[in-house]
Amino acid sequence: MSTETTRAQHTQGPWTVTFVKGSYQRPALVMAGHKLVAECPGDQLQPQQPSIGEAEDNARLIAEAPAMLAELGEMLKEHAWGRTVACDCIACERRRAILARIEGGAA
Ligand SMILES: [Zn+2]
Repeated sequence: MSTETTRAQHTQGPWTVTFVKGSYQRPALVMAGHKLVAECPGDQLQPQQPSIGEAEDNARLIAEAPAMLAELGEMLKEHAWGRTVACDCIACERRRAILARIEGGAA
């Protein structure tokens, strides 16, 4: 097994959050420049939907995904300690599982 690098093909970061003005419905948008990456619905009057505050928090979490993905790759590299084989600690196994799910592999 070799050391990992991130291979996911996602919209290039950085991603930013834009809040749409509104009254009781206010989606929060995750943008990559002018590209819409994700729209998080927020509705104060629909209990089956996230509240506006939840929508804003969801958008902020999603917007950090490229940075978190990069950090995950760096953590795996750091744990390899310059070796050509991957670290086999449980934390690195969890990190590799997350990367596999992001890249569309096994859960
Ligand atoms: Zn490790």
